[in-house]
Order: sequence, then structure tokens, then C-alpha cells
Amino acid sequence: MSDVIVEVSDLHKSFGRLEVLKGIDLEVRRGEVVCIIGPSGSGKSTLLRCVNLLEEPNSGKVVVNGFELTDPDCDIDRARRTVGMVFQNFNLFGHLSVLDNLTVAQRKVLKRDKAEAERIAMENLTKVGLAEKAGSMPAQLSGGQQQRVAIARALSMNPAVMLFDEPTSALDPELVGDVLKVMRQLADEGMTMLVVTHEMQFAREVADTVLFMDGGVVVEQGPPRQVIGNPQQERTQTFLARVL
Ligand code: ADP
Ligand code: MG
Repeated sequence: MSDVIVEVSDLHKSFGRLEVLKGIDLEVRRGEVVCIIGPSGSGKSTLLRCVNLLEEPNSGKVVVNGFELTDPDCDIDRARRTVGMVFQNFNLFGHLSVLDNLTVAQRKVLKRDKAEAERIAMENLTKVGLAEKAGSMPAQLSGGQQQRVAIARALSMNPAVMLFDEPTSALDPELVGDVLKVMRQLADEGMTMLVVTHEMQFAREVADTVLFMDGGVVVEQGPPRQVIGNPQQERTQTFLARVL
């Protein structure tokens, strides 16, 4: 099996006449953490959504875990099952308990029986430090706890890669650390991750590769000590001067 888990080549995406992605190339190898940084409106979310085929690219190629999503014959449902996604706003099912949030897709999509789905759910809730909240409803949890539940839910599907779209930007500052800690732990365990984030310290310490996007293109990419520590492009320097 290839060691490249996510491969994006010459990806273009427009909404009407607005060209949002103007030829993106990106690779995430097994066990790698790639962080995407860049100003609001630069196309970061659209890129992640194309990797999960929540948006359909206009042209270019997206291969995820051996599935070529841009091939019309691709089994999109099977392909998507190998991708875990964590959004800015948690997206938990409000009418289901934490435990049921973690078991519903395991049972429906992966056809796991109740006992196995619950066992896997509890393992992942333990991993994010929330085993004691299994019986709670999402609304009873803090934003940081809800986001950790969302991470545990995605992990319960045994994804080959986890996509994170600004997972901490809707959180109160004091809750950000717990979520980053869980993400850091996942990275240490060797999870393949593609993370859109404004947390420069996290990107600096955890990413193998950082991409700086602006205006629908990758302006600069490389190891964090280069892109964040010693950016070569003026646009990267200007952005970092604003956020650091
Ligand atoms: P980022 O995540 O970097 O802030 P986005 O990918 O969300 O950027 O958005 C990039 C641009 O695409 C923005 O100008 C945004 O308004 C536009 N856009 C995003 N999604 C849609 C959509 N579904 N329809 C029309 N325009 C969109
Ligand atoms: Mg976004």
C-alpha cells in the first residue's frame, strides 16, 4: 500500500465566477501531520471539504487512502468512511447522548453490533478523557468537551486520516489547551492528520509540514521552522506578523 494517504494535484474549485482554489498540490504521508495556515477566505475550508468530497472539485485530482475521489467510478461512501472530519462547531447530534453520538455511525455504516460499538466508543472517550460523560447530553458539556467528543466520534470509525478545520477557534481561550492536548497525543500515536489551524504554537511543535495558503494558492510550504520560523515569501511574513 502506498505511504501517501492524501494526494491532491492541481485542484481547482470555483463557486460561480469566484475561483477559490487555483491549482493546489498537497501530499500527506502516513503518520504525518500537515498544518494549513493562512488568512480568512484563502480557501482552507474549501480545500479540506474537497478532500472529503463535501465539495466537488472542478478539476484536478484527489486521492485519499487509495481511493481516487475525482474518478467518476469511485465508491465515494466507502472512500469517505476512511476519513475522519472534525469541524469548528463540533456538529454533535444534540438529541443523542455522548455514547450514542459515538455508536450511531459505527452501527449504521460499519455494521458493528451494539456491544462492540459501545466498547470502541468507551475506548475513545477514555482516550480524550471523557469516559465519565458517556451518559451526558452534548448541551451539558463545555465547548471543549464537545469538541473532544467529536474527535472521539471520528476516531471510532477507525479513519486512515483525520481532517481538522479550525477545531479550537470557536472555543473560549481556557478550553483550547485540552483539545490541542488530545490532538497532540493523536499525533504522537502516529495518526495521519491534516489540520487547518490558527494555533501557531501547535503548528510549530506538532506539524511535520506547514502550508501557508493565500488567495487560493499555496504560497509557501515546508517544515515549521522554515515556514513559521523563517518565512521566505512576503505574504507569509505579513500574515505571521499579524497573528504571532
Ligand atoms: P477559509 O476557510 O480559508 O476562510 P473558505 O474556503 O471558507 O476560506 O472560503 C474561501 C472563499 O470561498 C470565500 O470567499 C468564501 O466566501 C467562498 N465560499 C466558500 N464556500 C462557498 C460556497 N458554498 N458558495 C459560495 N462561496 C463560497
Ligand atoms: Mg475556514
